Amino acid sequence: MIDLHTHTNCSDGTDTPIQLVNKALAEGISVLAITDHDTTSGWQNAQDALRSNLSLVLGAEISCLTNDGISVHMLGLLFDGKNLAMQNMLENTRDGRIPRAHKMIELLNASGIKISMEDVESVKPTGATLGRPHIADALVKNGVVSSRDEAFSDLLHNNSPYYVAHMAPTPEEAISMIRAAGGVAVIAHPFASHRGQVLSAQDFLPLKNAGLNGIEVNHRDHNNEERNLLASIARELDLVITGASDYHGTGKLNSLGENHTNQAEWERLESEANQRRVIQL
Ligand code: AMP
Ligand code: ZN
Ligand code: FE
Ligand code: FE
Repeated sequence: MIDLHTHTNCSDGTDTPIQLVNKALAEGISVLAITDHDTTSGWQNAQDALRSNLSLVLGAEISCLTNDGISVHMLGLLFDGKNLAMQNMLENTRDGRIPRAHKMIELLNASGIKISMEDVESVKPTGATLGRPHIADALVKNGVVSSRDEAFSDLLHNNSPYYVAHMAPTPEEAISMIRAAGGVAVIAHPFASHRGQVLSAQDFLPLKNAGLNGIEVNHRDHNNEERNLLASIARELDLVITGASDYHGTGKLNSLGENHTNQAEWERLESEANQRRVIQL
């Protein structure tokens, strides 16, 4: 089973990279990608925990914003982690998440909702990429809501009055950065419309022209109609079709391997990186 999109507590997942690798091994995953939001900080621990029978794909899920303000997530897989331009882009995005959290907290406070940056810091693992799920966890801790899910559906979703965007590259910028660093770019859950405004079918050609390699078609946030449309776009543009769990530990319902990528699609995707970077013992 090939699962190309998972999170750890280096961003907003709840497992450590070591726990994630052990869980993947226990569940018979054959290829696992670690793709924390805007960071590669889990790579080393994941790699150190690796044992035979599992191939590890190092990656990141890069937060992007189109010029029209649409939030897009771009999976960068198999890129050179030492690439400076790439690391600078990730660092700039992480830095931009701090003032954004402050603004969201201010807006929540202005509506009488009790939460502080200290509350958020106290629930966030040290060094993890700061995100709305940590604001959600702080709201749970303060008794404002009872779960991350409730925090998102009531207060933190993209159309909420408390939502603030953060600085991020455009999808085209992220794709060219990933490709220049030797990796492959797969657009994550492009039609996950419950998160807010999404791209339209005609937006994929410019991404293909920017170097996009694949589309994450099979994801729990897509219904069958959305999967069929995305698969037809992928076939038309000759892009790889992937599926993945977007596992976040106990942070979300998604279970490891619940959606996966077929072997032939994976082999093609892997061959489009500029070097063989899959880690195997
Ligand atoms: P951010 O990157 O800070 O804008 O936060 C987005 C993250 O929140 C994504 O990783 C999503 O996986 C997560 N998220 C979105 N909706 C929910 C939800 N209902 N419950 C838990 N996590 C969510
Ligand atoms: Zn996440
Ligand atoms: Fe995402
Ligand atoms: Fe994700």
